[in-house]
Amino acid sequence: MKISALLTRGTAPSELVEAELDDPRPDEVIVRIEAVGVCHTDLVTRTELGDQPAVLGHEGCGTVERVGSSVDQLALGERVVISFASCGGCTQCRAGHPGYCAWATALNGSGRRLDKSSTLRVRNEPVFSSFFGQSSFATAALMAAASCVPVGDVPPEAVAPLGCGFLTGAGAVLNVLRPRPGDRLLVIGAGGVGAAAALTARSEGVEVIVAEPVAARRALPARYGVTAVASLDDPIPPVTHALDTTGRPGSIARALALLQPRGVLALVGLGPAEVTFDVRTLMLRGLHVRGCVEGDADPSVLIPELIQRYRSGLLPLDQLVTTYPLAAFDRAVADQQAGRTLKPVLVPTS
Ligand SMILES: [Zn+2]
Ligand SMILES: [Zn+2]
Repeated sequence: MKISALLTRGTAPSELVEAELDDPRPDEVIVRIEAVGVCHTDLVTRTELGDQPAVLGHEGCGTVERVGSSVDQLALGERVVISFASCGGCTQCRAGHPGYCAWATALNGSGRRLDKSSTLRVRNEPVFSSFFGQSSFATAALMAAASCVPVGDVPPEAVAPLGCGFLTGAGAVLNVLRPRPGDRLLVIGAGGVGAAAALTARSEGVEVIVAEPVAARRALPARYGVTAVASLDDPIPPVTHALDTTGRPGSIARALALLQPRGVLALVGLGPAEVTFDVRTLMLRGLHVRGCVEGDADPSVLIPELIQRYRSGLLPLDQLVTTYPLAAFDRAVADQQAGRTLKPVLVPTS
């Protein structure tokens, strides 16, 4: 099937190209992309791949256009959010933790299907595709039917980031930290992940403090009852829970210092591979430090729950996103990096 896809080569300017998308296999589907979020991992991978031509994008939302012969759980025309790929059969998948799937790296980051076949060709050459099992910076994408979560009649641009960024922030709160009313959560960084985490915690009735240096990113959580400070050096009362989305060693150390005894810090941002902390502080105060990916979520469970919160007005996802045409990817990234946009979402049809 002929599609338009956004081809990137490292940080060189991206280009919209004609591409040939493979036919769906029995367990796969093709989704006509209506909206796709830009996530930090797209930018990291783009850089890591260097000159290798790639079609990235892993927060797709759209309507089911073609289904493989054994797919019976999705109907043509149905709107779905496309999340990360997992095998469904390994120990972690069967326990409801597909983020830790034994095949996670091969399925989401190898640029191919598990059998090493490519799903996308540009000028008759295979390109890095199947990114997070989807490669959705395109007018249509191919993925396992199991990656698709039906979402009903909701604005595609508001819910597309539930495939990764918003899922990561919301899941870190609901699945990992689990603060209760009366608790106090510190969120470090208010990009797409941090803002989703802060608003999700507010929807649970939890007191939330966000530390974020960019004034424009502080404004939105502040409108929803979050206390927003510019720096971790500002006065911050002790907290029961903390979420670091930055990966910065100084921020992680400060979060540990602010935690009350038996407090929990969850790490969802990647910075330097190694961070040092004081074992004595950790031990004597009974602190927990937890890592997690994709909010430790089963997307088929958490995405419908978050959509429910969005529909009932508890989680204003539409306030977090700014839309751009697919071809304006480079501008969207520049706006995000300059703090002008919190969460860019590309709309292929605009
Ligand atoms: Zn698995
Ligand atoms: Zn992501």
